[in-house]
Amino acid sequence: MRKLELQTSWGNLLLVGGSRAGEGSLLLLPQFRLALDAGFPLRALVPMEQVVVSHGHTDHLAGLLAWAAQRQLQNLGPARVYALEPLSQQLRQLLQLGAAMESGKPYLVDVVRVTAGQTVHLRPDCVLRFFLTSHWTPTLGVVLSWHKRQLKGEFWGLAPEAIRDLRQKGIEVSETVEVPLFAYLADTGPEILEKESWLAGVEVLVVECTFLRPQDRERARRFGHIHLDDLRSWLPFVHNRHWVLTHLSRRHRLGPASKTIRQALATEHGPQVHLLNVEWP
Ligand SMILES: [Zn+2]
Ligand SMILES: [Zn+2]
Repeated sequence: MRKLELQTSWGNLLLVGGSRAGEGSLLLLPQFRLALDAGFPLRALVPMEQVVVSHGHTDHLAGLLAWAAQRQLQNLGPARVYALEPLSQQLRQLLQLGAAMESGKPYLVDVVRVTAGQTVHLRPDCVLRFFLTSHWTPTLGVVLSWHKRQLKGEFWGLAPEAIRDLRQKGIEVSETVEVPLFAYLADTGPEILEKESWLAGVEVLVVECTFLRPQDRERARRFGHIHLDDLRSWLPFVHNRHWVLTHLSRRHRLGPASKTIRQALATEHGPQVHLLNVEWP
């Protein structure tokens, strides 16, 4: 399991998780009690109250049943899972079956069917929005936006007393701006950056980088994954503050792969690169 603390305009964003293609991928945002995929039964997954299951591949959901069962055992209260149709229906059946095998008492988990474009409030000032990525099976990506209250531009530079006077006269001095703070791309091919060009401006971009070697480019295309060369070609077009890379293929050994990735993506003004890949036990 890896832990990252990333500086953003919202404050320090904590990320916990681990990832390896085919074996298990999950990313937790403990400050929001939110899990993005549940591909491994991590103990840290249990307190998460909302889980987005990006798609039906086992490496993204194998920990879901253990999560629901542990929440039941520890009396942790109701929770939610978000998924596309028909996966949402299938997950509902999976959880019903799991509960039936254990005790017959249904888990307190509501599986919510979502569609691209739909939004969910995580808290009053933070919204999750779903979009489709570019994998070979329908796959959900999510963006977390912060609805930041700030002083309207026309009042910048005014003394605090002057602003207070305006407020007392009933004049609205602040406005809400939407800050795209964080996006999770789950499994995807590189076309996603053209389809969702706003991703270039998200502060924290969690993006897969499954393959690294030149001979794996074709494989990456065929299975809807991103190759290191794709990410390198994105560098001149993005102004993300952080890249968190996931989903490394088991064709690559962790240590040398991390070195290769860091070397390939090292730039003076580009995003800070963080790696979420692990060697699961
Ligand atoms: Zn995967
Ligand atoms: Zn997949």
